[in-house]
Amino acid sequence: MVNTDVVIIGGGPSGSLAACKLLKEGYSVTVLERLEFPRFVIGESLLPRCNELLDKNGLIDIIKEQGYIVKGGAIFIDENKQEEIVDFTNNLGQKWGTSFQVKREEFDNVLLETAKKLGAVVLHKYTVTDYNNDENIITAIDDKDATHTFKAKFVLDASGYGRVLPKLLDLDIPSDLKLRNAIFTRIKGEKRRAQEKEGFIDIVIHDNNQAWLWIIPFSDGTTSMGIVCQEDYFKNTNLSLEEFFDKVVDTHPYLKEKLENAVKLQPVGIIEGYSSAIKKMYGKGFALSGNATEFLDPVFSSGVTLALESSDRVADMIIKELKGENPDWEKDYEEYMMIGINVFREFVYAWYEGKLRKIFYCSKKSVTIKKSIASILSGYVWDEDNYFTTNTKEKIDTLVSLC
Ligand SMILES: Cc1cc2nc3c(=O)[nH]c(=O)nc-3n(C[C@H](O)[C@H](O)[C@H](O)COP(=O)(O)OP(=O)(O)OC[C@H]3O[C@@H](n4cnc5c(N)ncnc54)[C@H](O)[C@@H]3O)c2cc1C
Repeated sequence: MVNTDVVIIGGGPSGSLAACKLLKEGYSVTVLERLEFPRFVIGESLLPRCNELLDKNGLIDIIKEQGYIVKGGAIFIDENKQEEIVDFTNNLGQKWGTSFQVKREEFDNVLLETAKKLGAVVLHKYTVTDYNNDENIITAIDDKDATHTFKAKFVLDASGYGRVLPKLLDLDIPSDLKLRNAIFTRIKGEKRRAQEKEGFIDIVIHDNNQAWLWIIPFSDGTTSMGIVCQEDYFKNTNLSLEEFFDKVVDTHPYLKEKLENAVKLQPVGIIEGYSSAIKKMYGKGFALSGNATEFLDPVFSSGVTLALESSDRVADMIIKELKGENPDWEKDYEEYMMIGINVFREFVYAWYEGKLRKIFYCSKKSVTIKKSIASILSGYVWDEDNYFTTNTKEKIDTLVSLC
């Protein structure tokens, strides 16, 4: 049995940031990661709030050195090619007005390598299979089927879609969001935007809100693209993934033009039913962070931001716990996280109900409302000065009626 201060399950951004923070405070950290890195994971578009968190934790310079394309904002494009530009620099005064578009196999690897340099023991191809909560003992199986046990003072589950402790401790609850699919690939050769907007994410509205697409340009000239729609919207076509993808591109005037000379770099893949929710984010001797807690929806690229926010916060809580300070997990972790998650949740609902579309394309919006929207979509969902961070649903509804 290996003894360590903290076992972290999963070496994604959430696990790595928490590891770095704990290591800097002098705690021993063992990261158990079921895959060899670099590994593919979806979710390549970051928000300015990510930069702020990376900066706060001394990680921004190493990310800047990677030469990722700078993301200045999001451009919404409707079925008639009408555009609404959300410029992240036009925010409510926050320092970070840009972020990056990153291939996650590279970004996640840089963060995990940094944790290793700070002293983390990272064991790849170790799959966590069991957790004894009374003794705080984690069991993992390696790729040769050997069993290993780890006794920790604290266990952090940052296993993302693996949802290790939610499954083992029966903490999972169904998400209140509808089941949706993401049908995705990588391409090259599409028409790029002029330099000052090249790094923006395109969010393309398709078929009267029945589907939307992301287009995320990378600095190496390749691009990530995906279609998000309800399960039936794809299944009822009886088309293969490739045929469905091609049909959507072919029937949207903006996509048809943009992808005229593009080629696919890999087969079209699908991720199904990814939204998830949780009964509790913490318990005696353990906590969850990142996607292992709640994952809403990809539309506003909030996943990595929430993963970093939660791990930044959870690491502080664990440090207090290990110092015997008896931190208030309910108030300072779960309630805090739910404030930001719930703002995003209302934006996600309003997006699928077509309400945000009305607001985005409304010419009567005040400058403050424009800035408030840019700020929320930048990930500043805890900013109490933002119009949308309290009574979010009511305020969206009021704006819809004014528009
Ligand atoms: C279609 C789609 C599009 C998205 N687009 C975006 C986007 O543009 N921007 C954005 O910010 N977010 C996006 N996301 C969300 C984003 O992918 C996640 O929020 C993010 O990866 C969460 O990071 P994490 O560190 O919590 O988990 P992950 O990055 O998933 O890392 C978890 C790690 O745990 C490991 N693991 C799992 N099970 C075990 C086990 N049993 N034992 C050991 N290790 C284990 C995994 O191998 C993995 O490496 C998108 C999600 C979807 C579904």
